[in-house]
Amino acid sequence: MTEIIDGKSIAEDVVAKVKEQAAALAGAGVRPGLAVVIVGEDPASQVYVASKSRRAKECGFHSVQHSLPADTGEGELVALIKELNADPAIHGILVQLPLPNHIDAGRIIQTIAPQKDVDGFHFINVGKLGTGEVETAFVPCTPAGAMLMLERVRGKDLSGLNAVVIGRSNIVGKPMANLLLAANATVTIAHSRTKDLPAVARGADILVAAVGRPQMVKGDWVKPGATVIDVGINRIAAPEKGEGKTRLVGDVAYEEAKAVAGAITPVPGGVGPMTIAMLMANTLVSAFRAAGREPPVF
Ligand code: NAD
Repeated sequence: MTEIIDGKSIAEDVVAKVKEQAAALAGAGVRPGLAVVIVGEDPASQVYVASKSRRAKECGFHSVQHSLPADTGEGELVALIKELNADPAIHGILVQLPLPNHIDAGRIIQTIAPQKDVDGFHFINVGKLGTGEVETAFVPCTPAGAMLMLERVRGKDLSGLNAVVIGRSNIVGKPMANLLLAANATVTIAHSRTKDLPAVARGADILVAAVGRPQMVKGDWVKPGATVIDVGINRIAAPEKGEGKTRLVGDVAYEEAKAVAGAITPVPGGVGPMTIAMLMANTLVSAFRAAGREPPVF
């Protein structure tokens, strides 16, 4: 029987631990603080930001949301981040991407203090992850969540296992590959220029899809018994649900892949819920570090 890796339930476990540890820290007079910054009206970003702020409140955090108009200047945004960098009540700063075109997202990310960069996108955190300093880095939330899911099936040590990550983005593919490497897997990063992708994928004991192409990974790309982690979130038309209706699918053709895999994450209900849970975990860890205490390990 193929194991379905339930992201909702693992995310709830993470959040339960965050709440418990946040309460313990409150006893020492420290309340984790998360500031979420959004620029413009992008509807998907509005939904993400609202759920991040809601989760933070639910965890007992000090939760602040800055919603800025689409025509906000880069200088104004930099000034806000510098203020948040200096605010001792804030332990995590998240700037929702994408930013409007007139703002240099790279510059904005590098303005966030590395010790408050709970998204893990600052060069300092990227460098720490790349050099194996995972203990003191902030690891980007989506790959960190994907690793926790993988751990449920394969444990922490992936020695001897071949991992293939499809996608080389800075947000998912590259940090995921680094985490797999840190866990001793033999790692291949495949991408849009890879030759014979199905053959490469078939070599994977652990197959991670982070492409952004609906149901691209077919059942016959999956090695029998492999663990399949589907990071993709794609909205496609679902005329079977009624005119104009849509549904979410991953980058993996789920039913086909499930028939071959040993374990697989569904979409929705897989990696998606883990991302926000790991953001809470990173913010909590940041508050522990700021208080000079040993942070919990997730
Ligand atoms: P991206 O567009 O930045 O990167 C996509 C990568 O896929 C690129 O490196 C590209 O080389 C590769 N690629 C594109 N076409 C390909 C092809 N035909 N064959 C092989 N490789 C190909 O995307 P991203 O930000 O890394 O996101 C990837 C997916 O993960 C998207 O569906 C996104 O919605 C989803 N995502 C989910 C979460 C979550 O919370 N679960 C978070 C971030 C991203």
